[in-house]
Amino acid sequence: MEIVQGVHMIPSRISRMYLVEDASLTLIDAGLPWDARAVYRYVESIGRRPEEITSILMTHNHPDHTSGAYSISKRTGADIIAHEDDTRLHHSKGRDLGYMGMFNTVNLPLPFLRRAEVSQAASDGDILPIAGGIQVIHTPGHTPGSACYLMKERGVMFTGDTAFSNGKTVSRSIPFPGYDREAYRKSLERLGEMDFDVMCGGHGSPLVGNAAEKLRQLTAAKPELPTWRDLLLKRIPSRISKAKSFSGED
Ligand SMILES: [Zn+2]
Ligand SMILES: [Zn+2]
Repeated sequence: MEIVQGVHMIPSRISRMYLVEDASLTLIDAGLPWDARAVYRYVESIGRRPEEITSILMTHNHPDHTSGAYSISKRTGADIIAHEDDTRLHHSKGRDLGYMGMFNTVNLPLPFLRRAEVSQAASDGDILPIAGGIQVIHTPGHTPGSACYLMKERGVMFTGDTAFSNGKTVSRSIPFPGYDREAYRKSLERLGEMDFDVMCGGHGSPLVGNAAEKLRQLTAAKPELPTWRDLLLKRIPSRISKAKSFSGED
């Protein structure tokens, strides 16, 4: 499905992948390992070849977005680009996608993530020489190395799991274990200060038209979701102590 000229959404059963058409092709997120065939089929349906995919940009390292990257990069030779904080240094050779945020303490049988070499560790402010320039915006919170990608020329922001849409409004992602609430709040505010018309999230449907304004409405209007940790450590004890002080107890 073409969202705006040259920007396509390729649905995976769980997450969303995006394809940017230029002289070469760029994939934003890579779905699950078995999504590779859907990517190749889609690329062929628009008259291009899978070998034209030269870059795979990762919005963050959760397996529903990254675990397809290894096989696609192996077949096409595409570079994998991810923010350094969601990658893992392996030996002295380089980085891979082995780091997986909340999963990093569990040794999951996902060897393809350890084999997926990151060709370029992206940093905040980098402008990738793709489709007239794609800006890397480090938006920690959902994971430490979450990144959004702004395609200024076409007014498109790829937000991964930092913000979602149902096609009409913008919503927040669910707090996962390992999520940093304060960093997340700041990241959303920062995104809201930017200028973009279209928002392509990692799940749901893309939002076309006034996307930055709709994100600002979300950050302005809705109170933040408390985390379980927050409820357990702060809110409940403070209610108990308030109740005590009202009743005259120490
Ligand atoms: Zn995620
Ligand atoms: Zn996700």
